[in-house]
Formats: sequence, structure tokens, C-alpha cells
Amino acid sequence: MPSYVITEKCDGCKAQDKTACQYICPNDLMTLNRDLMKAYNQEPDQCWECYNCVKICPQQAIEIRAYQDFAPLGANVIPMRGTDSIMWTIKFRNGKLQRFKFPIRTTAEGSVDPYKGKPEADQSKIKQPGYFTTTKAMPVIKK
Ligand code: SF4
Ligand code: SF4
Repeated sequence: MPSYVITEKCDGCKAQDKTACQYICPNDLMTLNRDLMKAYNQEPDQCWECYNCVKICPQQAIEIRAYQDFAPLGANVIPMRGTDSIMWTIKFRNGKLQRFKFPIRTTAEGSVDPYKGKPEADQSKIKQPGYFTTTKAMPVIKK
């Protein structure tokens, strides 16, 4: 089930240029109605329920109706992010709560360098098979 915004809770990220949910959605689905200052998922069919918008929303204003393979029918799944962990609360339809806490990162926020330790990309090899990050430990398989 795609994400949806609980409009009573959404404050439009206080009218910043880009809302947190717009910033984080890998599919550019979240948008803001500037008249109402409420966000919404503009293309629910394209949502793959990655939970990024749910996790980043500072107002906990976004929910997803979770599939039964990881949450029982009618349950809510509510994340609460900390700096080094995330707490997931499962609220069952009978009101029972269950909480799970997981560590979320091993590097400081914003400090990841995805190319660290990787060679410079050689554009002259752009049409060759393989990846520029391929190492001896991960050789290209020749047929
Ligand atoms: S991140 Fe949350 S509060 Fe901000 S615009 Fe999106 S739904 Fe509203
Ligand atoms: S659940 Fe993921 S894909 Fe769906 S709107 Fe939120 S961030 Fe985008």
C-alpha cells in the first residue's frame, strides 16, 4: 500500500523550499500543496513503500498500510529516528504495542564518501563490460 499523509499532522515542513518528504523520496512522488501547506503522494501507483518518507517526516505525518508479511492486518508501523538507532513501534489493531530498536549507521550523518578507496573512472573504457570499481577480488567473468 502506498504512503499517505495524515493532513492534521503535516505542517508542510514549515514552508521550506523543499519538504523533508520531497527531499528523501527516491521516486520524486511527494509534493506539497502550497495553498494548504500539506504534502501528498502525487502518484501512489509508483510508490514502492520504501518507508523513507515515513522515517524522515519530523511530524510523523506519513504512514503506509504495511503488508501482512511483516505487520499483521490492521497494524500501524511507526518509526522514531534517533542519531544512532531507529525504534519501530508496531501498533496492533487490538491496541497492543511492540517495539524493536535497531542501530542505523556506522558513520556520521553526511560523512559518507561513496568513492572512497575507488579508482578514478576511465572514460576510455566506457564501452567495455564491467564496472570501474571492479577489483581483483571481484574479477570480470569472461565467456
Ligand atoms: S515531511 Fe512530513 S511534515 Fe514535512 S511536508 Fe512531508 S508530510 Fe508534511
Ligand atoms: S514510501 Fe518511498 S517511494 Fe513511497 S512516497 Fe515514500 S519515499 Fe517515496
